[in-house]
Amino acid sequence: MDGGLFKATFHDSPIGIAILDEVGHYVEVNRAFARILGREPEEVVSSNFVEFTHPSDLPRDIELLSQLARDDVPYYQTQKRYLTKGGDTKWVRMTVTRIDDAVRSETHHFIAQVEDITEVVRAREQLERRAFYDGLTGLANRTLLMERLTQALANHRKRQTTVALLFFDIDDFKQVNDSLGHAAGDRLLVITAQRIQSAVRRGDTVARLGGDEFVVLLEDVRSADDAESLASIITRTMQAPVTIANHEIVPTMSAGLAVADGDTDAEELIQDADTAMYAAKRAGHALLKIYDSALREAAVTKMEVEEDLRKALRQGELAVHYQPVVDLETRNPIGYEALVRWSHPRRGVLLPEEFLAIAEQTQLVVPIGSLVIHEACAFIARHPDIDAQIFVNVSPSQLGENALARTLEAALDQHGVDPSRLAIEVTESAFLKTTPVVEADLKRIAGLEIDVVIDDFGTGRGSLSTLLEKSVSGIKLAERFARRFGDRGVGDKVSRGIALMVRDVGFLAMVKGIETEEQAELAHSHGWVAGQGYLFGHPLAEEALGLPPPPAETSTRVPSGSQAL
Ligand code: C2E
Ligand code: MG
Repeated sequence: MDGGLFKATFHDSPIGIAILDEVGHYVEVNRAFARILGREPEEVVSSNFVEFTHPSDLPRDIELLSQLARDDVPYYQTQKRYLTKGGDTKWVRMTVTRIDDAVRSETHHFIAQVEDITEVVRAREQLERRAFYDGLTGLANRTLLMERLTQALANHRKRQTTVALLFFDIDDFKQVNDSLGHAAGDRLLVITAQRIQSAVRRGDTVARLGGDEFVVLLEDVRSADDAESLASIITRTMQAPVTIANHEIVPTMSAGLAVADGDTDAEELIQDADTAMYAAKRAGHALLKIYDSALREAAVTKMEVEEDLRKALRQGELAVHYQPVVDLETRNPIGYEALVRWSHPRRGVLLPEEFLAIAEQTQLVVPIGSLVIHEACAFIARHPDIDAQIFVNVSPSQLGENALARTLEAALDQHGVDPSRLAIEVTESAFLKTTPVVEADLKRIAGLEIDVVIDDFGTGRGSLSTLLEKSVSGIKLAERFARRFGDRGVGDKVSRGIALMVRDVGFLAMVKGIETEEQAELAHSHGWVAGQGYLFGHPLAEEALGLPPPPAETSTRVPSGSQAL
């Protein structure tokens, strides 16, 4: 190969090539090499490689080069970082070979072949980031938290210090998401992440576990008090108002704190802090709870009930009882309220108050609700001849994104039932908290011609006028009003007033909790149309209701003209 050709090959090679003297000065470099350094070849020649090497990589680089100089190795390969003229870091993969001088064998040069792998390294780093960090907030994710927590617990056992975990959950986050949209929800999550991050000590790990759940891992905690004061700083920082999507929000968080003892493992500590956080949520928002053994017991019971409930759903232990709603004038049933019961294998028949709260917390209320809806539709299909509507209680968790509308449609369809024979009951307090998504669901339900009834009316601060704008067609007056009938004072006046208004707006007016004849007569005289209570009948299993036996062909479709009420 002639010298000209060699020179051209050297200079135009796409791979960076540099020739260095014994002490690391560049004797000659090609264009590709200079380009990696963001410089012209003339700017590089005569400089020492030390000037362009990332300081952290220098000791290793010098060591490798001296091994080569001593002839300990014939060549070496490494990955290292250079600093460019513009101050960027470039990752390279390089192979360095020694060439002995042909004339003076005691002197030598080095040839480095250098390939820019910055993009490959960045892509790898990004993949790692994705594996360990939350994409939205940049906080650690569950995987990284678990890793650090496991490590911290092992260290703390050695050092006899304490590790604490703070578990945070944004109060009413779902409401922000549903009413202002997902972008606003995301914004709130990012702000929350920044606020927590700014309140913790350097070195504390802040992680997002998904949804609106955040965790702070506190290492080297001296006492639970330390962790507690940090938790209150964080919750306070959180309460500064923020403007999102033109709405001012004052976010609050519920927090749970758990402190590790001798043999707590990572999963347990997270679970404990989560349990404490749930207790804070239940006790009212914006609270901090500290995990203790009483909470552990409550959590165990909750877990047991949850497990039993899942089994109950699978094994058909849940049943529906029916309580008549009667016409206050004729005392004939105009409908039945479907009320769920649990025939527990050990504890006997359980009322909703013993399991619904846990079903609500564990989202089991949704499949339970669907079961009741299907049972109610099957009941209607078995009794095509009775002129009665079935009232089904629904939990707010069942509503949203047309979830309940779809369930109802499917059940009506499966059992061939006319929608006018079904009504749903939503409590007034749940109704007042509805978001646009929930309202859309209710609207679609009303569009199916299923009546929507407000249960426990008069317990919240709802007004009839707000209900009028929604998809409501009836109300059930809260039981506590019936208790005050006959006081010839406020109780009677309020009852009369509400009944008048309810009828005036065309809603079906019902009263609950009627236990005595006197209450029934007063309710009627106040203008209430229908009543429900032990006086007219307790909730009973279908067979005990005394209904005419279902016709032989039970799957007959209900004639579409058959209107209850
Ligand atoms: P609710 O909708 O207010 O149902 C009426 C409750 O009052 C029933 O209790 C019923 O047994 C009781 N009751 C009826 N008449 C009288 C009376 O004259 N005096 C008194 N003191 N009480 C009377 P139950 O069956 O224990 O249900 C309790 C609550 O559980 C229901 O209250 C409802 O909110 C909820 N629930 C029941 N079934 C379901 C269901 O399938 N899904 C959902 N989400 N909730 C349900
Ligand atoms: Mg009800």
